[in-house]
Amino acid sequence: MMPTVQRIQSLFLNLVLPPRCPMTGELVGAHGTIDPSYWSTLTFAHSPLCTSCGLTFPHEVETDMVCGACLQTPPPYHSARSILRYDDASAAMILKFKHTDGTTLTPVFRQWMMRHRDHFENADLIIPVPLHRWRLLKRRYNQAALLGAALSSITQIPHAAHLLRRTRHTPSQGRKSKAERQDNIKAAFAVPEKYHLILKDKRIILIDDVYTSGATIHECTRVLLKHGASDVQVLTLAKVMKD
Ligand SMILES: [Zn+2]
Repeated sequence: MMPTVQRIQSLFLNLVLPPRCPMTGELVGAHGTIDPSYWSTLTFAHSPLCTSCGLTFPHEVETDMVCGACLQTPPPYHSARSILRYDDASAAMILKFKHTDGTTLTPVFRQWMMRHRDHFENADLIIPVPLHRWRLLKRRYNQAALLGAALSSITQIPHAAHLLRRTRHTPSQGRKSKAERQDNIKAAFAVPEKYHLILKDKRIILIDDVYTSGATIHECTRVLLKHGASDVQVLTLAKVMKD
């Protein structure tokens, strides 16, 4: 149960600012929760899933199965997990989170990330996929770093938001093919030399909002491993899953 002081603070907050769903604006039971009508439109990534990339299988499979794509080209990371399937409902949440309002959705995502705590319980550092500084100036905040800070606040795993840098401003990945995305992202990330020692032998949780083709996540993982990280686990809000 919540300590008395926190309970009083929470009751006071609810009186002054009644909790509303960040998506529908409807009154909800507590801050950081989603209106049930919106919740029911979301699809959470669930078992059975590919033990490597976290893709949800549409049918029952044997335990420890890997999907065809991971079998053909094993990803450089140890494993990846996503909270939601990327679809219209999750895309609307992420768009809001990314462009207009990082604060009201952070408590929701913080709780949801903790559903995957088994996936990262031995991690040493949380690292967000970085934005290039021009994009950061335009957007004002890096949504992946907001997630990283939120996860760090609840797990006490240190958040190293500036360790991985985006050195090249890459055009949007939006309409590109998988091969074009890989080319586009090549050599776009680096770890400044002064951080190499910090990274050495560390188990990393790499955080991003959407796992699309995996090109960005693969490239970030390669750079982290190249500079001494011992292991990378990936956590994203949503994953594009083609049936
Ligand atoms: Zn897979």
